[in-house]
Amino acid sequence: MAFCPKCLYEIVRGPKFCPECGARLVRRLSPQQMAEVQWTLVGSFSDVTQANMVKEALENQGITALLKTDMFHSALMVQGTAFPGAYAHIFVPRAKCQEALDSIKTMTGK
Ligand SMILES: [Zn+2]
Repeated sequence: MAFCPKCLYEIVRGPKFCPECGARLVRRLSPQQMAEVQWTLVGSFSDVTQANMVKEALENQGITALLKTDMFHSALMVQGTAFPGAYAHIFVPRAKCQEALDSIKTMTGK
């Protein structure tokens, strides 16, 4: 579990850098910042079509999902998961994080 100190995103797993702004993630935020964290990154996909399917499935379950595609920071991703071009990230409200993770696991087998 890590956090972007700039965007105030919670990142469950994966990159060491924020996919949104490229900042190095931190382990902890101040209690004040913690209170402002609203979105959790629950999955990153090299395949935008798959990401869209996951988003749709989450929304069918009543989980608001935010899809952000990232053309720029993919080079900063963990080795082996970096692809040139678009990279899609799915964010869900922090309170729905575990529920979304379970669903994604079921959907993608990851
Ligand atoms: Zn950020």
